[in-house]
Amino acid sequence: MRESQDALKIVTDLASAHRVGTERVGLLEAFHRVLAEDIVSDIDLPPFRQSTRDGFACRRADLSNDLEVVEAITAGIPPQKLLGRNECAKVMTGAAIPQGADCVVMIEHAEHLSPARIRCDANGPEDNICPEGAYAAAGETILHAGEMIEAQHVALLASVGCSRPLVSRRPTVGVIATGSELVEVGRQPGPCQIRNSNSFQLSALVLGASAVPRNYGLVADDREAIETVLRKAMAENDVVVLSGGIAKGDHDFVRGILEENLVDLILDGTGANSGRPVLLGVSDGTFCFGLSGNPVSNFIMFALMVKPFLYALAGHRFRPALSRGELAETVRRRKANKDFWLPVTVAEDGQIHPVEHRGPMGIHAMCKADGVIHVPAGRAGLTKGATVVVRGI
Ligand code: AMP
Ligand code: MG
Repeated sequence: MRESQDALKIVTDLASAHRVGTERVGLLEAFHRVLAEDIVSDIDLPPFRQSTRDGFACRRADLSNDLEVVEAITAGIPPQKLLGRNECAKVMTGAAIPQGADCVVMIEHAEHLSPARIRCDANGPEDNICPEGAYAAAGETILHAGEMIEAQHVALLASVGCSRPLVSRRPTVGVIATGSELVEVGRQPGPCQIRNSNSFQLSALVLGASAVPRNYGLVADDREAIETVLRKAMAENDVVVLSGGIAKGDHDFVRGILEENLVDLILDGTGANSGRPVLLGVSDGTFCFGLSGNPVSNFIMFALMVKPFLYALAGHRFRPALSRGELAETVRRRKANKDFWLPVTVAEDGQIHPVEHRGPMGIHAMCKADGVIHVPAGRAGLTKGATVVVRGI
């Protein structure tokens, strides 16, 4: 994995050094954005001793005696009484524990002798009490800058009263498809034409990476036309992603254009799937990726390089979901000189199967895949039974 990992490090270090700005947004707008400040709890969590059960708050020392029920405490209402000897208070889950009580006997373990008297038949070692400040003390940092805000983080922000967290701005990403064989989605392809699916794939991937896609349409394999659109997209966005035209065919102009227009071509031909490279250059603080037009390569290289890059621009370190399993069949490859990523499915028994495809792998493969596995450069394949790491997609 070395080659790709080095490339990934180059890419993410670069992005981390060019972080986008920040803004304050409402709690729900913060969902799936990157937190840009540490969050300190303004109160103890929970703020008071809480019952974790419906039952009777009492003193452990009194448990073998009959107890008098002196009050019923519902959630949200402060207890009125201090518990004396052989006294208890009925409590609901989430209610405050009265002073003097040191455990809650679950309602299932209490027998009513009369409406105001109970006897406990058993109590486990649990107190069924959550002490105040058990989750966090007032003043404690509960979330750190750089964390991705998921639903559970939204809940935590809400619980400490943070209604407008500071988050990173979403990077904007111009998407350009190149290829003279391409037609727009709404059109019927003519002879030898195909529909432009990559613009939509890339835009959806950009959305999934918490960034904002901007579609610059499709451009024929025409040097000047590509250059014109590229300049416009670079002037208007943080990042531009080009699809197609990066190989060495007669009509592959993107590499030449990037070499001439971008001050620095940082990455060239590294970590590619299907022997196809990924290009990354920068000019005036705008980054430009060149990805293969092959829809599978396009998808995988976005996932491997562009997604971590976009997250790093927003200050988040992306960690892919990884799982381990046993390869159900031997995988062979014809050319072993490049890193290779193979789409796979994970069966219920944990066995890893390469996705089935007819002919060269098409975009259907990614629709079936649960993830990809890595066949490093220099390896002719992987043997059945080998333990492999599946990277989620
Ligand atoms: P390229 O990277 O330009 O050499 O293209 C490689 C393959 O991907 C060719 O078979 C193209 O027809 C196909 N392809 C290129 N661009 C797109 C696109 N925008 N949508 C779908 N397929 C594409
Ligand atoms: Mg092409």
